[in-house]
Amino acid sequence: MRIVHLAAEFAPIAKAGGLGEVVVGLARELSRASEQVDVIIPKYDFIDPKNFLHLKLEVPDFKSLENNKLHRNAMWSAENEQCRLHLLESRHASGYFHRRKIYGCEDDIARFLYFSRAALEYLKLKKEPIDILHLHDWHVAVCAPLVRDLFAKELQVKKIVLTIHNVEYQGKCASADLDAIGLNGPEYLDRNKLQDDNPSFPESINLLKGGIVYSDAVVAVSPTYAKEILTPEIGFNLDPTLRKQKAKLTGILNGIDQKLWDPSSDPHLSAHFDSNSTPPAIIAAKEANKKALAKLYSVDAEKKPWIGAVTRLVPQKSPELLEEALKKTLQLNGVYILLGSSPISEIQQHFDLLQAHYKQNPQLILQFNYNEPLAHQIYAALDFLLVPSHFEPCGLTQLIAMRYGTIPIVRSTGGLKDTVFDWQDASVPIQKRNGFAFEKATVSSMNAALERAVGLFHEDSAARQTLIRNGIKIDSSWVKPAQEYLKLYQRLLDGKK
Ligand code: ADP
Repeated sequence: MRIVHLAAEFAPIAKAGGLGEVVVGLARELSRASEQVDVIIPKYDFIDPKNFLHLKLEVPDFKSLENNKLHRNAMWSAENEQCRLHLLESRHASGYFHRRKIYGCEDDIARFLYFSRAALEYLKLKKEPIDILHLHDWHVAVCAPLVRDLFAKELQVKKIVLTIHNVEYQGKCASADLDAIGLNGPEYLDRNKLQDDNPSFPESINLLKGGIVYSDAVVAVSPTYAKEILTPEIGFNLDPTLRKQKAKLTGILNGIDQKLWDPSSDPHLSAHFDSNSTPPAIIAAKEANKKALAKLYSVDAEKKPWIGAVTRLVPQKSPELLEEALKKTLQLNGVYILLGSSPISEIQQHFDLLQAHYKQNPQLILQFNYNEPLAHQIYAALDFLLVPSHFEPCGLTQLIAMRYGTIPIVRSTGGLKDTVFDWQDASVPIQKRNGFAFEKATVSSMNAALERAVGLFHEDSAARQTLIRNGIKIDSSWVKPAQEYLKLYQRLLDGKK
């Protein structure tokens, strides 16, 4: 089976959040299952060629259309742990991928539309038939209508799969933006095509909607999220389209890349352990990791519960609750750690002020930037990881936490609901209970869970050990999800629903 993934991220070389990890984890596992897997992402200026052993210039020059002009590109490729990674270098005069960042530019729509068409131009040049073209999120969703309407004769693609990592981000634009890459924009301002479902924006094109309508299958990143996006509360106005396309929607839970996240060999940790270590050995290693962080940040580590989060600070992740949790943790005499960064300047400023307010508090570590090594150290040091999201498509941080012997405290939504089972939930077998879950995204609901967690930490060592063991024993690898994706691909190729 020849599978081609198109995406904006690939971890660790180009990662802004979960998307990059999912693409690398899935692609590697599919390759291990002996499929032929290619991944194409933009060649961002911040990607260091030294990360690759054999980066080759594969196609030195090929052209792609934008605004009636042909623009030059080159394709680089590298064998990256079995799957073939292709980096599309755009030589467009606007320097689309020379911004030192993946997203957050005013012309993001133009950048990713350009990338989408250029990636298809490259695939056309290769002339190799594709069994599955797998698209990830709005950035490349336009490839579905492009393949079916514009490249239909030139590019042989049997089936198209779209994975929705977060339905909040949809790529809304004007029909003229489609014109720019050679589609006849006004033709797509049609409710059965790419016209936005929201009646307030009748002139808007919605790129994610195009992916949903034109793909053969749509995958949400957890079973619960696949149900939730059909509702107006979590569907972000795409729920009418999703309900119409329900027959091709499924939910497949993400895994985490076992190599990127391996507490037995993680170079950022001071002490190591694995899923065969006994809970007391895990706790001892965590104490050593706590000490190292405590020294670095002048924090008081002695016999206190460590609670924290590693997260983008956006409304989805309940920044207001993350702030309340800080107060609650101090009240419970714990240590609170927050590593976060925000693309929204008001939120970032708010947390910067908070940091200034609590400066030099020996029970706090507040870091507001993107810091991969620190994230690893935090997962290994924490006792509890808090994820109080309003909605959460899958969520990787709770899975990483459990692999690092950290007990999750989550709001029951989306993938959090599918992966975290409350210590006191009598409807779940005891060997499956692995954390604390609360129903409502409110301060009182969250604080009650924090109190229960801290109570268990101080008073019930046996229960704490059971939770750690149950969490670390979970198979969060990509083996099972990749098998589910493979089954889906096969069903599509066999012409079954
Ligand atoms: P999302 O994709 O919505 O941001 P996920 O839970 O799916 O959330 O994935 C988040 C990933 O990004 C995790 O690997 C997490 O460790 C990482 N991450 C989030 N914020 C930071 C940060 N400030 N520094 C380092 N890593 C971060």
